[in-house]
Amino acid sequence: MLIGQRINDLIKEHRPNALCDKCICEELDYYSSADAALIAEALGTTPEFDRRRGQCVLCQNERIVIRANPT
Ligand SMILES: [Zn+2]
Repeated sequence: MLIGQRINDLIKEHRPNALCDKCICEELDYYSSADAALIAEALGTTPEFDRRRGQCVLCQNERIVIRANPT
């Protein structure tokens, strides 16, 4: 499966909680974090997702996170 689709699904699974790029990579065993960050950033420009500074539900760190908007 394409990494973009996997990231998309992972974020939706955690809705309404937000995930940071690092945890997205770890959850998917995807170690090219730069790519994952780019994909998450691209998703953040769509109306389906919201990317902003906030708390990640997994690592509890305050950083840039992404969440899926309610449908
Ligand atoms: Zn995190």
